[in-house]
Amino acid sequence: MPKISLLILTLLLIASPAHAELAVLPGKYVSLHTNVPQSKEILALPAFLDLALVEQAKILVPDMTQRTALLNRLATQEKIRAVLLDNKEPPAEVLKQLAKHGYTPKDFTDGFAVRGNYWVRRQPLFRFMQGIFLHEQVHAIMQRTYGHSGPVWYSEALAESLSRFRFSADGKKLLLGGMPYSKKEIPGFSRIKNLQRIVKERPTIALDDVFRVEMADVPERKAEPSLGNALVLSQEDAYPLYWALGMLLSCDPNYANAFFSAATEVNKPDFTIRFRKALGEKLPLARMQWFAFVAAIDYGYDFTSEQFAPAKQKRPTEQGTFFTLDAASGWTNSGVSIRAGQTKQIFARGRFQIAKPQGVVWEAEPNGITLRYFRGRPLGELLVAVGPPDGTTGKKNPFLKVSPAGKKGSITSQQDGVLYFRLNDSPAQLGDNAGSVEVFVGK
Ligand SMILES: [Zn+2]
Repeated sequence: MPKISLLILTLLLIASPAHAELAVLPGKYVSLHTNVPQSKEILALPAFLDLALVEQAKILVPDMTQRTALLNRLATQEKIRAVLLDNKEPPAEVLKQLAKHGYTPKDFTDGFAVRGNYWVRRQPLFRFMQGIFLHEQVHAIMQRTYGHSGPVWYSEALAESLSRFRFSADGKKLLLGGMPYSKKEIPGFSRIKNLQRIVKERPTIALDDVFRVEMADVPERKAEPSLGNALVLSQEDAYPLYWALGMLLSCDPNYANAFFSAATEVNKPDFTIRFRKALGEKLPLARMQWFAFVAAIDYGYDFTSEQFAPAKQKRPTEQGTFFTLDAASGWTNSGVSIRAGQTKQIFARGRFQIAKPQGVVWEAEPNGITLRYFRGRPLGELLVAVGPPDGTTGKKNPFLKVSPAGKKGSITSQQDGVLYFRLNDSPAQLGDNAGSVEVFVGK
């Protein structure tokens, strides 16, 4: 069939010059095409991407037969092409390739994935750039397996949640996901700082709003119409929100399973409505945790301590309600309702451990200690916030307005809600707390 052969030959001729301009560093599943000088780090990149691909595929393609088939296809037929470009004007053939996907070099400062391959722009900080590679690689795996990666919030939250990595203590195992533990971990990482700004600018931003976020400058990626009006934001605002949603849903054991297993459902209609249904009775909890997370977002945020556990040993009396508040828990739902305009008296007593720096126990009482402050208040001080009963949208984030209660205080509420309590401490440092206090809320 000479016609077909000619067509293949023509295609090869069209395709090959682009590659001729770039060095090709083949891995087992991913081949790196680049015009960046081949430093030791760059030469080691294909092996790193292969290692990450296997770990990412375990999560994204849970079906073993399907995953084995994918890995075989990549190894023997068509590797994922990862194109890394420096910041100079790319060669003409590379420009042509970019144009084919609707891009110019100006359009992408970090990366994009299309039809199961991806492109990355060289970054000044290598560790940061590896994160971009892993982000785009998630999209590429999703595209190769399911044809696409789902609605924009899911696609990005998923890619963000599997782009952070670290190695096990013996250096052999690549571990994916989790909250960055400190600023030093990923120099150049700006999601947390940007999110703090966004939450100040948009104090009502709720979990369900992020499902509706789409980007003004990426018009081809729409939020699902079944969710109502889209919330159109700049990329600068959208990505930190997608990241935060990805962190909550992937780091919190309550949601991680539903979040990752939804990867296999991206071709079903009304994906997000289904996803919310899959969360079931945990959805109101997720909405409250979102508010608490974005209000106090910081490196090392500890999702397992921020579970909104109901208050323990609750004892309603004629005068009010007694309960126990654990020092190692984050926000605790007292279950005590308050009406708009109402004032409640609060009393608390007990000694607890609020920190243990270098093995030295710091004890505190509900007024806190002035040896250290957190967010402008004494460490360990009893705090109170009024939350909507189910984390519904449209209201200001309740954890942006926190009142000190201490040993003896009161709260007057502007709206109907439920009282939440905690002891003032960083959400990254609840692990070294112990003990509890007894709280009484008057009628
Ligand atoms: Zn992405």
